[in-house]
Amino acid sequence: MLDDYQNHLEDEKRQFIANQDKTTSFECEFQVGDKVIFTNEYGVSFNNIHVTGFVKPDEVMYGRFIYLDYSCYWFASMLSSLKRQEPTVLACEDAVKQAKMEHDKYLEENPSKRVLCDDTITPFSGAMKILGFTAVLKNGCSILRKCPDKECGKTSSTLYKKGENQYYACPHCKKIEHIS
Ligand SMILES: [Zn+2]
Repeated sequence: MLDDYQNHLEDEKRQFIANQDKTTSFECEFQVGDKVIFTNEYGVSFNNIHVTGFVKPDEVMYGRFIYLDYSCYWFASMLSSLKRQEPTVLACEDAVKQAKMEHDKYLEENPSKRVLCDDTITPFSGAMKILGFTAVLKNGCSILRKCPDKECGKTSSTLYKKGENQYYACPHCKKIEHIS
């Protein structure tokens, strides 16, 4: 439970982020929501940081124009202190093989179900289950989004949870992103 003071701080943060510009006229490869690695002036890096917004052009000081969702959310960062955080590839080959075998066996026993299955997505979701991930459903459907990997870019990156954590995982390139 958050007490009143913590609620107040959360409100302040939400309001501050809501007032940030959501696009910028400065040259910048990042957009709101992008996941970055932030390196502070002592050379310490932080993962899983998101871009929340941009400083209004006439308020930019010392080239700091990108706001992040970390503890100093009100203190904008320079472009040079950010690096895009690329998703990692999930080591799931054995689980995919196992899921494929189970899937083929199922198809053999239920030939009429062929149309419901896909050779990539179905074995991958089976593999995720074997690895302990559960698909997050909304109204009974998977939650999908575009894969952030530029070369892949397919729109079937799927939301999963494992324990307290949530991930998007792409059945095509097997890239997995830790969301929260
Ligand atoms: Zn992908």
